[in-house]
Amino acid sequence: PATLGVMGGGQLGRMFVHAAQSMGYFTVVLDPDTSSPAGLVSHQHIQRDYLDTQGLAKLVQHCAAVTTEFENVPAAALATLAATRPTAPNAEAVAIAQDRIQEKAHLARSGVPVAPYAVIENAADLATVADSLLPGILKTARLGYDGKGQLRVSNRAELASAWDALKHVPCVLEQMLPLADECSVIVARGWDGACVHFAPQRNLHRQGILAVTQAYEGNLPPALVDKAVTATKKIADELNYVGVLCVEFFVLAEGSPESAALGGLVVNEMAPRPHNSGHYTLDACDQSQFDLQVRTLAGLPLVQPRHHSAAVMLNLLGDLWVNGCIPPWDTVLALPGVHLHLYGKLQAKPGRKMGHLTVTAATAAEANAVALEAARLLGIEAF
Ligand code: ATP
Ligand code: MG
Ligand code: MG
Repeated sequence: PATLGVMGGGQLGRMFVHAAQSMGYFTVVLDPDTSSPAGLVSHQHIQRDYLDTQGLAKLVQHCAAVTTEFENVPAAALATLAATRPTAPNAEAVAIAQDRIQEKAHLARSGVPVAPYAVIENAADLATVADSLLPGILKTARLGYDGKGQLRVSNRAELASAWDALKHVPCVLEQMLPLADECSVIVARGWDGACVHFAPQRNLHRQGILAVTQAYEGNLPPALVDKAVTATKKIADELNYVGVLCVEFFVLAEGSPESAALGGLVVNEMAPRPHNSGHYTLDACDQSQFDLQVRTLAGLPLVQPRHHSAAVMLNLLGDLWVNGCIPPWDTVLALPGVHLHLYGKLQAKPGRKMGHLTVTAATAAEANAVALEAARLLGIEAF
């Protein structure tokens, strides 16, 4: 049987491994962490750094094809792998998604609107920032996730001290936009350019971290749905992307000047991999985002997935486990349509994604009602 490899051993890698194994593949995970969630369930776990020559050679030796679950895997490592094995996504696409400056330039090339922004690379850039970008959010160009590496600033003095706090690394300053909603679109694109998608899911963030995803018909204004899917496919095409790609969008408050100027919908950022907002596809769709990742990687046919149940996903952060508490699974799992996914992480920390829970139901109202009850039992803020 063929073996598939994945760079990165986090929860996304773990769910990739599950999907690959259920289709009969052997799996190899490359991750330096000895107890990574994916490494724990993979047939093989290479515990090496991403750029370690021997680790990469071993991956190539064992695997028919390699993907990534970790967007900060060095693009150079992907380029090395791609020289001898089908590797998806391509190193260039990952390099672009790793750097907000390159990412924004790429989005402009694709003709999709982004938040007005300025590149901040030195003190002179700070001085020339347009007043219209304040209040804004200063974001490090690289390595940020879950709202880490970004600071909200309301005036020039705060901007200057935020840049100090971020240690003068290259940043972008984005105008703070009036958001009505956030959503994301996940597509899978094959080696031949054929592309399938999931309908946009509606996302609620708290403290910069995804908290809730609602996935059902009617979750977003219908006019936005086609627009978001078309933009995502355009972005994937422009990157000559192979694999699963997620694009996050801001839905701007109707009637605001920003909405009028930018056309109602702007791209926030993209992730060159399956995405937390697509975890509901495991339980609510006939093909999950991880099934599609396996199919793209293995060169198998892509068939438009069918979303068969209304779904609401709640992220389970480490806060639920503090002081050695164990969440009340017995009462939560007694609710109808609850699917619990825990990632096998050995240590809970506040804000750390430990698992998620998806409620599936015949109707959106039912999925929301059960998810609200689950949130109440778990002590998660209502949505
Ligand atoms: P992820 O974990 O999704 O990669 P991240 O750390 O890259 O997150 P962003 O997606 O840039 O962070 O921002 C996190 C959240 O902060 C957004 O989902 C949104 O709620 C809010 N936000 C970010 N930029 C803006 C903006 N320009 N205007 C208004 N809100 C914003
Ligand atoms: Mg991000
Ligand atoms: Mg984000």
